[in-house]
Amino acid sequence: MIATFELRCSGCATPAQRHDAPCAACGELLEFALRTEACDPGAAREYAAMVAARRANTTSLDRSGIWRWRELLPQIPHDAIVTLAEGNVPLYDVPKIAAREGVAALAFFHLGMNPTGSFKDLGMTVAISAARAEGATRAICASTGNTASSMAAYAARAGMEAYALVPRGKISGAKLAQMRDYGVRVVEVEGSFDDALAALTARAEADAAVVNSINPYRLEGQKCTAFALLEARSWRVPDWVVVPGGNLGNSSAIGKGFREALALGLIDRIPRIAVVQAEGAAPFVQLYRSGRDLVPIVPHTIASAIAVGAPRSWRKARAELDASHGAAVSVTDDEIDAAKKRIGAAGIGCEPASAATLAGIARLRAEGSIAENDDVVAVLTGHVLKDSDASLRVADRSDVGA
Ligand SMILES: *Cc1c(COP(=O)(O)O)cnc(C)c1O
Ligand SMILES: [Zn+2]
Repeated sequence: MIATFELRCSGCATPAQRHDAPCAACGELLEFALRTEACDPGAAREYAAMVAARRANTTSLDRSGIWRWRELLPQIPHDAIVTLAEGNVPLYDVPKIAAREGVAALAFFHLGMNPTGSFKDLGMTVAISAARAEGATRAICASTGNTASSMAAYAARAGMEAYALVPRGKISGAKLAQMRDYGVRVVEVEGSFDDALAALTARAEADAAVVNSINPYRLEGQKCTAFALLEARSWRVPDWVVVPGGNLGNSSAIGKGFREALALGLIDRIPRIAVVQAEGAAPFVQLYRSGRDLVPIVPHTIASAIAVGAPRSWRKARAELDASHGAAVSVTDDEIDAAKKRIGAAGIGCEPASAATLAGIARLRAEGSIAENDDVVAVLTGHVLKDSDASLRVADRSDVGA
């Protein structure tokens, strides 16, 4: 099984000549659209078995939880691929939390257990490899910390220079320290992540690869979250997959992964996707629930990784929620703190943005979107050590209980 893809506009479907600019016809983001015809379930099962068997091999491509799926990714010459053995992450069952939330099953798929501590590695390995294959010598991104840390690590491995535009005073000390460890050049921008991304677009350096999630290669790596999650569940499809939403690249990518798994015959239905945002940074929840288009806001939340006021991938994410009969919900910073405490008390731990998923599940259960007999997976996006100030603050709070 080898999938072929067409690079085209995600809005008007016009084929694109280059991947590093928005659609020339309508300005929307690009995507790699799957062109492969459905294969029969037998061939799909055989392919899944071959991918699973690759884990026992010792080559760097087979040791990567992304490149094990390389037939389902845009083709990149193997000698250009930069990998840090990303994508081999745990799925943790949490029956006690499931019982308290009143759902049949709940598990955390912990993407914070990636090489640089966030899911960004899953997309970065593809984006940096593609950039390297094209001869780029520099990478650049706007970031609340995790994208920049991931870019810096992969760029360093590739021998590329890395530049990060970050919102001044709005990212955790741990993330700033981590990215500097990998040797990134940091440019601080006044304002929010949105201002940093705008500054990046204005800079538009011809020879620097932009590795934000507007880069369609990023989403191709991140879509493998869907494959890896299904594999970890022996291809049993959950009822819900709950994802925190900031710029909305990840929820879009995960939805795409499930749709492709369905198209390829690997599964026979897709899960419903729920996007959770922080109340002070919930423009997507606003637009999804109202049926209107994006109205940008100025974001305010302790969950810095999802403090985004004008998410670039909102149209893609809306399409994935529509396709999966999904939902969008917002939670308060207090609810995020309480959820973070509970995830920590379960021996798992995560950064605040990731804890929004558990808070969102409680909300979705209360409003009846998630039902009593549903089987739910929450995607934890960042490692507990990513924001130690948040951990200390939450630990000292006795008003939010574990
Ligand atoms: C980047 C990030 C998010 C948000 O993902 P988007 O693709 O921007 O929606 C959520 N949590 C963590 C920990 C992140 O690093
Ligand atoms: Zn277009």
